[in-house]
Amino acid sequence: MQKQKQKQKRIVVIGAGVSGLTTALLLSKNPRYSITVAAKHMPGDYDIEYASPWAGADYLPWTLTGISFADEYYGMNRTSEPGTDAAEWDRSPACKTYTRTKDVDSPTPKFAKDPWWKDMLPDYKEIPTSHLPPGISTGHSFTSLTINTAIYLPYLVSLLLASSVILKRAVFTHITDAAFAHHTTSPSPSNQADMLLNCTGLSSLTLPGVSDPHLYPIRGQTVLVRNASHGNFSLSGTDESDEGAYIMARAAGGGTVLGGCTQVGSWAGEVDVEMAGRIMGRAVGLCPELVGGKEDGVKGLDVIRHGVGLRPARKGGVRIESEVVDGVQVVHNYGHAGAGYQCSFGCAEVAVKLVDEALWD
Ligand SMILES: Cc1cc2nc3c(=O)[nH]c(=O)nc-3n(C[C@H](O)[C@H](O)[C@H](O)COP(=O)(O)OP(=O)(O)OC[C@H]3O[C@@H](n4cnc5c(N)ncnc54)[C@H](O)[C@@H]3O)c2cc1C
Repeated sequence: MQKQKQKQKRIVVIGAGVSGLTTALLLSKNPRYSITVAAKHMPGDYDIEYASPWAGADYLPWTLTGISFADEYYGMNRTSEPGTDAAEWDRSPACKTYTRTKDVDSPTPKFAKDPWWKDMLPDYKEIPTSHLPPGISTGHSFTSLTINTAIYLPYLVSLLLASSVILKRAVFTHITDAAFAHHTTSPSPSNQADMLLNCTGLSSLTLPGVSDPHLYPIRGQTVLVRNASHGNFSLSGTDESDEGAYIMARAAGGGTVLGGCTQVGSWAGEVDVEMAGRIMGRAVGLCPELVGGKEDGVKGLDVIRHGVGLRPARKGGVRIESEVVDGVQVVHNYGHAGAGYQCSFGCAEVAVKLVDEALWD
């Protein structure tokens, strides 16, 4: 037993968003790793510097440079394997995408006629024209996944605790400071961690030792309501250039998320009240069932909270890379933009492979 402990490599995962927690979870499958997760923000916090709580978070495929479609799908679908606790509560059987008539000839259509993922998501089919709302040319329905982030992030924490991973608060002013944050390490240069996982999301833009200039925010704004939509909806476009319209029904009493926007380069952390009004108006138009089909729709919405989050986007796509910073071995896993949940397992698997290679090959 003592011998096995001595052989363990000490790893510090920086960040407790979905990327850090998932990476720590996959690392914890290897008994040769002793893991500490250290972060400024933890599940339960709501902060503009912490993207994960604000996500929808559904699975509606987007391409991430450097990550294959298969990884992306496989990644999120893993949370719903039969037999896991998450198997039932994140399944969304009634998802619909609608293409507006005015978006049909768009040079960059949001929804392809025959998307590459149509054979991967169960029940994918075209909605008959007679069932489409006014102003909609085509629509598709399918089964997908929607994560209730308010319970999913603590769920990941519970899996980590069951695997003897230690979690703690820490704020690092240089990435290599984390080398002294392992729970068995005393602050002595000869006793530092063997590996750091950098899962700091957008903060990698300014974190000394990383300072990645390719990172930028894509601001998202949402409204969480108590009303039930009985399904997910996503519209091809709106009349405001950087605004969208989507509805995500959260499992287990999580409410319904109404979105949203994709404001590239905006750091604004406060709620834009006028935009919130437009988000709610569009949601009621898209799904009148939210308010029981009543005419004065938006007034029928029962708001739990307004949300603003910054998607950690990166020119060139997600960074999953190994490097040595000032003599400390680091594997990066950040820059997942608006797909951090749906590619969480796929990206974490790539990161863990890099850890294995760096520590054992
Ligand atoms: C409105 C909105 C809607 C979204 N919808 C979806 C969706 O439908 N599907 C989907 O897959 N994704 C969605 N996303 C994207 C998803 O939320 C992100 O890609 C994901 O949360 C990024 O997670 P992360 O762990 O990399 O970063 P974060 O969640 O930001 O976590 C970063 C962590 O690093 C820590 N940290 C940073 N700097 C330091 C430091 N110096 N010292 C110590 N700790 C530090 C922070 O405290 C935090 O714990 C959405 C995002 C938003 C904002």
